[in-house]
Amino acid sequence: MVVKENSKTQPADSTPNEHVRCLILGSGPAGYTAAIYAARANLNPVLYEGIQPGGQLTTTTEVENFPGYPNGITGTEMMEDLKKQAERFGTQVRWGIATKVDFSSHPHKVWIDDKTLITANAVIIATGATAKYLGLESEEKYKGSGVSACATCDGFFYRGKDVAVVGGGDSAAEEALYLAGLCRKVYLIVRKPFLRASKIMQQRVLSNPNIEVLFEHVTKEIYGDGVVEGVKLIKRQGQPDETEVDLKIDGFFLAIGHTPNSDIFKPYIETDETGYIITKGNSSHTNIPGVFACGDVMDKTYRQAITAAGSGCKAAIDAERWLSEMGL
Ligand code: NDP
Repeated sequence: MVVKENSKTQPADSTPNEHVRCLILGSGPAGYTAAIYAARANLNPVLYEGIQPGGQLTTTTEVENFPGYPNGITGTEMMEDLKKQAERFGTQVRWGIATKVDFSSHPHKVWIDDKTLITANAVIIATGATAKYLGLESEEKYKGSGVSACATCDGFFYRGKDVAVVGGGDSAAEEALYLAGLCRKVYLIVRKPFLRASKIMQQRVLSNPNIEVLFEHVTKEIYGDGVVEGVKLIKRQGQPDETEVDLKIDGFFLAIGHTPNSDIFKPYIETDETGYIITKGNSSHTNIPGVFACGDVMDKTYRQAITAAGSGCKAAIDAERWLSEMGL
């Protein structure tokens, strides 16, 4: 593989402020794990935290399924520990958001906050994904107090209780089935008169006695005194028989899809039709030599902290081997 060094005269906004060997974008479990491995491999990584320092885990309360924490740990604490661990081996963790990249020649260029240009021999993309929310004010209010976008993370807190899941795709079906194994009752709130999920998932949902599917319902408002106590829905909105429905629930789960945070990379990096970065085989290599991807920005299937951490480790190892092969 030949890596072309860019020797052309740079336009004014392309004067690098700094060159680094390994640049990591994102500060969730994938980014920090990549940083721990990269730092221990003497790659002198620089990590930019991105739009949500600590990533999606900082929006959950207790993390009980990450191996090694028998008593659980809060998402925020875990991310602080991962940060400390990355810094302990020399990672420079910085506040800033990657706003533009140019991967057309080597070294790779990344602009931070539209002003600082960093050139890097290797770039590890760990920018994660953002769960989609309905956009209700009340949804914001109860985030972490009954509103969640991850049943696997938070479902356990609703054992024996009543919950609702919004969405009609495979994610919603999966979340509803997972919760049906824990909760007394699961309402699946679907805005259309049918499910979009695959046939097999539909069958499982519809035949599960703990799940009640509410077709043609949209969410109006979540309410409760400090924590979620119920949700107001509108049945057949806009139709002559439109009615308001009041559901008493303890948990409200969003499963209306995730958006991978890959937009700025798309001019150079191959993504699938939904924006997830495509990596080669079982590796973290993208279509651009020296650019690696890990975590939720490339994984639409598992989306767990532990799988993201594992893929961050792979990205650092791939980067280290690639840099060594290139003599960089
Ligand atoms: P999808 O885009 O497939 O489904 C999103 C669902 O949420 C749709 O039913 C959609 O409704 C609904 N929705 C979207 N916005 C709103 C809103 N504002 N209000 C109410 N409902 C809304 O996303 P998924 O995350 O389910 O799946 C993404 C991809 O990942 C799919 O290709 C899926 O097959 C795949 N996947 C596969 C799994 C597996 O194989 N085990 C597990 C999970 C996901 P509407 O139908 O009306 O548009």
